[in-house]
Parts: sequence; C-alpha cells; structure tokens
Amino acid sequence: MEKKTDSKFLRVKCNDCENEQVVFDHASTSVKCNVCGRTLVEPRGGKAGIKGEIIEVLT
Ligand SMILES: [Zn+2]
Repeated sequence: MEKKTDSKFLRVKCNDCENEQVVFDHASTSVKCNVCGRTLVEPRGGKAGIKGEIIEVLT
C-alpha cells in the first residue's frame, strides 16, 4: 500500500549544543533537544518546522 504523505525521519543537530537527534518531520507535538531542552521541531499541522540543522534524511 502506498502512503500519500511524504513524512520522513530526519537527523537534526541542535544549534545550541550540537547534539544530534532523530526526529519525525510531521511531528504533532514539539520535540526538544534531549541535552539542552531547546526546541528542535515545532508542530505546524502537517510538515513540522525544523529548528535545527538537518544533517541527514532517513528513508
Ligand atoms: Zn541541545
């Protein structure tokens, strides 16, 4: 079965502490850095807003 959304997992680097973390790009809740607590992903009712640097797109 084919999915219609192009949701992905992304490896994102925190701008503050350089922690790398895997996040979902259609997150429905905000995701915070596990180390410093900075918001990395902001929900936007669809594709989420990524607040850090995207290192890698995981497929
Ligand atoms: Zn951090």
